[in-house]
Amino acid sequence: MTIELSDRVESVGPSGIRRFFEIAEERDDVISLGVGEPDFSTPWAARDAAIASLEQGKTSYTANRGKRELREAISRYVEDRFDLEYGADEEILVTAGASEAVDLAFRAIVDPGDTVAVAQPSYISYEPGVIFAGGEVLSVPTRETDDFRLTVEELERAGAADADVLVICYPNNPTGAIMTRADLEPIAAFAREHDLTVLSDEIYAELTYDDTDHTSIASLKGMRERTVVFNGFSKAHAMTGLRLGYALGPAEAIGAMNRIHQYTMLSAPTTPQYAALEALDSCEDDVRKMVDQYDRRRRFVLSRFREIGMACFEAKGAFYVFPEVPSGWTAEEFAEELLHEQGVAAVPGDVFGDGAEGHLRVSYATGLEDLKEALNRIEAFLEERNEVAPIDDS
Ligand code: PLP
Repeated sequence: MTIELSDRVESVGPSGIRRFFEIAEERDDVISLGVGEPDFSTPWAARDAAIASLEQGKTSYTANRGKRELREAISRYVEDRFDLEYGADEEILVTAGASEAVDLAFRAIVDPGDTVAVAQPSYISYEPGVIFAGGEVLSVPTRETDDFRLTVEELERAGAADADVLVICYPNNPTGAIMTRADLEPIAAFAREHDLTVLSDEIYAELTYDDTDHTSIASLKGMRERTVVFNGFSKAHAMTGLRLGYALGPAEAIGAMNRIHQYTMLSAPTTPQYAALEALDSCEDDVRKMVDQYDRRRRFVLSRFREIGMACFEAKGAFYVFPEVPSGWTAEEFAEELLHEQGVAAVPGDVFGDGAEGHLRVSYATGLEDLKEALNRIEAFLEERNEVAPIDDS
């Protein structure tokens, strides 16, 4: 007998990123520019708080929605940092990573047959999440010529006016693009006009550069009531393995997400909740130091790509840059040959959906010395092929 799997699950392939990294894991001289997680350790104060909670035997379930103290701290934090007002009682849900929040939102909001417009290139989990919830994905490309910002023209061209939900992620994985308040205003107006629910993944909100503070679309007029925001501790607080995130939204949406969460997760893991509370209370300086390091690396990587003749859009957020592969290559061919010949792993853009063809996602969540060596190897790779394109100064 064989177990018959659900059509929904069978229609979703394995992650394109994983497939690529299995190749990389076979060699030990590989410099990976592919990982989407900080190379820093969790700040000590947060680790100490987690350890202390274990020593004190605080290992039971918490409230379904997360520890009240943590929800109160999140409420203060998002107001201070992003001008977002959410009450600890009903408008905040603590989850097992932002990933759980994304999945819960799709399941709580999307009905079978609903259309979910996803601004692409995008994080790889949205499309499977929509399919698992029974919805249909409508891809809305963003373009390098628009600095990978979502535009109303692309929304209209894709037919997103008839969609039910719109998913955006800024600062963006994989492009590193950000959207300012001025960029978001027309998108918010479009969502209001066409009555779209907006799911806004803001997990990289702390990671913006060049004095461009993050603006949440939920802080724009008339958007709070139609938006669910995702955030978490994985990126800014270097806590990926502790699996803690949260969702912010109107009470009905958060209540519906909590209904699924209480049956499937009960509560987010307890020890990380203590770490997160401390992270919000006392780790602001650690976050600033990490952001400064990312910024130094970002500037180095951008200038080096340009120097070796690979055009690279000026990413201003997250910890990714998105260079173009030279003409004559697909991103997949380039990434595979680069990996085999020079032992540098970067992710071909295509795995992130429309608008990403011909690009590589390069993460600079890697030490500067490794970044220097990786860029030298990429330069050697290009030189060997005589593929160095003239630098475009225009
Ligand atoms: N959202 C985006 C855009 C991401 O890049 C990631 C992780 O790479 C996640 C969500 C998942 O975050 P978490 O570790 O909190 O589940």
